Amino acid sequence: MEVGFLGLGIMGKAMSMNLLKNGFKVTVWNRTLSKCDEVVAHGASVGETPAEVVKKCNITIAILSDPAAALSVVFDKDGVLDQICSGKGYIDMSTVDPETSCKISEAIALKGGHFLEAPVSGSKQPAETGQLVILAAGDKALYEEAVPAFDVLGKKSFFLGPVGNGAKMKLVVNMIMGSVMNAFSEGLTLAERSGLNPHSLLDVLDLGGIANPMFRGKGPEMLKDNYSPAFPLKHQQKDMRLALALGDQNAVSMPVAAAANEAFKKARSMGLGDLDFSAVYETVKLLKHSS
Ligand code: NAP
Repeated sequence: MEVGFLGLGIMGKAMSMNLLKNGFKVTVWNRTLSKCDEVVAHGASVGETPAEVVKKCNITIAILSDPAAALSVVFDKDGVLDQICSGKGYIDMSTVDPETSCKISEAIALKGGHFLEAPVSGSKQPAETGQLVILAAGDKALYEEAVPAFDVLGKKSFFLGPVGNGAKMKLVVNMIMGSVMNAFSEGLTLAERSGLNPHSLLDVLDLGGIANPMFRGKGPEMLKDNYSPAFPLKHQQKDMRLALALGDQNAVSMPVAAAANEAFKKARSMGLGDLDFSAVYETVKLLKHSS
């Protein structure tokens, strides 16, 4: 199977390498073209523009930073819309808001193309090992066509109905994750400042009802101040912002998520946006120090 792939950031690089390893022919494009070198060394071809990739491949996948990037790659000069047509499919796996997905979907449909949104749950390591959870919505026939690729990229894929439902599911998941990360950061700080060993807290948490892979994986690294980015904090804050907007639209009061969003904004203002989202821990440590 031949696929196009737009966006070789943390997720896109891991996912396109995975497709190559599993026998797919892959043509890649990235805004910063030099980031294509490593995947090309593993057998990928390069397209000079998104349009060139779409022209060559019947299915093109994208995973880009945010709504502005997702829209730009589709609507700008030499973008996806230039070449999408009947018989071609476009799958956007970026985390965006439902409105962005719907706008892209409508424009692609007007050209006779097929569109699926398919944001993912899971981070750098699940992307490398094909263990993502895929939250697809939109064109069911394109979903069926893409299942061989989804089977390589993920451990499970869901088809959630009309365009927008994938984006909404992803935002709800990340709203919960961002809120939990803030409570976890406060817990680690409270344990330490009140004279407990925070490593013992990790051991206690891991044996109880709220044990989870995030505490297990991130906790020891946070205690070493290691925030090497798997999920950049700036993207987590974008997801909180988009989830809060979804809350506005549906009149859902979300004080916990709103407070978590403020902490991520604070972390961005401290220059931590490119670090892992667990670096929000630094904002809690800072606030406690200054009291
Ligand atoms: P990343 O490492 O920051 O990569 C972002 C990608 O978007 C890069 O390829 C970047 O190109 C491209 N980009 C940004 N602005 C652009 C623009 N205006 N036009 C064209 N391309 C543009 O991000 P990531 O961690 O791979 O995340 C990608 C998406 O997946 C985000 O929506 C994120 O929320 C979501 N996601 C991430 C994770 C995770 O754990 N990392 C997990 C689930 C979902 P350049 O290289 O040229 O900058």
